[in-house]
Amino acid sequence: MPLPRGIKHVSELGVEGKRVFVRVDLNVPLTKDRKVSDDARIQAVLPTLRHLIERDARIVLASHLGRPDGQVKPELTLEPVAARLAELLDRDVVLADEPVGDGARKVVSDLRDGQIALLENLRFDPGEEANDETFARALASYCDIYVNDAFGTAHRAHASTAGMVKFVGERGAGFVMAKEIDVLSRLLGEVEKPYLAVLGGAKVSDKIEVLDALLGRVQAIAIGGAMANTFLVAQGKRLGQSRIEKDKLPLARNFLRKASEQKVTIHLPTDVVVASGLDATTGQVVSMEAGVPDDLMALDIGPATIEVYRRALQAAATIFWNGPMGVFEKPAFAAGTMAVARAMADHKVALTVVGGGDSAAAVAQAGIEDKVTHVSTGGGASLEFIQGLDLPGIAALVA
Ligand code: ADP
Ligand code: MG
Repeated sequence: MPLPRGIKHVSELGVEGKRVFVRVDLNVPLTKDRKVSDDARIQAVLPTLRHLIERDARIVLASHLGRPDGQVKPELTLEPVAARLAELLDRDVVLADEPVGDGARKVVSDLRDGQIALLENLRFDPGEEANDETFARALASYCDIYVNDAFGTAHRAHASTAGMVKFVGERGAGFVMAKEIDVLSRLLGEVEKPYLAVLGGAKVSDKIEVLDALLGRVQAIAIGGAMANTFLVAQGKRLGQSRIEKDKLPLARNFLRKASEQKVTIHLPTDVVVASGLDATTGQVVSMEAGVPDDLMALDIGPATIEVYRRALQAAATIFWNGPMGVFEKPAFAAGTMAVARAMADHKVALTVVGGGDSAAAVAQAGIEDKVTHVSTGGGASLEFIQGLDLPGIAALVA
């Protein structure tokens, strides 16, 4: 697994008997009675943890959960996460009752070879998100070696992802982080052409930087989801009650102009599935020539559009997909998103990469996780990475 820019893989580090701090992403969804409702993020870090256990490291895990905003919120304790992790590893996981402090220090110093401690929710302390030096030094004092396996927070310069690293002697990337860097950096190098990006989801404003950066790399971009609405309005189409970002119309027009100058093909929906609102259970297809009736809204791409996007996907040799084509959470408006997922899965040779939280959920809904090259665990992080930006959590790992 090649790692660029002087970053070591955790398997290259001498961890035996050492205290190894692992920044993990255990920010999992919880049920109302505080049980882990989806343990995918816990499952994802097991290879790194098993590796460290087998090599007799003393493991100090740290993660955030939810948005406690620097305050102790008992409902956001990592307790249910520690319990699920212990079950999956079939070992004790000792939870410290604070991210730093005397209690945390005691838990860490009591660790024996091969044992695991989990610090309490990092974001209970305002020092985490503020990247406070005192907090960072406290975390660093708990370990000899720093490992980051939390790609999803690598675009944030927080104490546990960036600040503490310079105070630790040795550092490296865990299995999740290493695979993310490996696959996503392939999209920044010389890729097989044509390179097609499929962009969708909620808002143009979330993704305009990505769109702009992609113009320099791809041959075509297929746009769907609510994001497409703003572009369609920019082209003078009628969108009825559809979600539109009026203030982004100049950005959209500017983007379409740049794309045509750079000879990048932009696919926009030629038909959409419309309904009276997000609660509707059925929709009807209208062509964009006719436009969306005044009292209805576009909730998915239509069948003619699906056909065009499917052909573009088939013809592509490299594909990056972020953002669903419609309100895929509702069966009546999931067809466009599922069609994109299946077209990616049908590829035998193309490099196929999916990024984004809802896009990853759509891939799971389509049951094709194993049929694409890579489903990124990072939403914002994967988008920043494929723009070629430096992510603080990755930059910090360079020796
Ligand atoms: P990701 O998390 O993959 O980056 P986003 O968060 O940008 O994706 O967008 C996902 C959301 O966009 C989904 O909840 C989906 O229902 C919504 N969405 C997609 N198309 C539309 C549409 N036409 N109208 C309203 N919402 C939409
Ligand atoms: Mg999302």
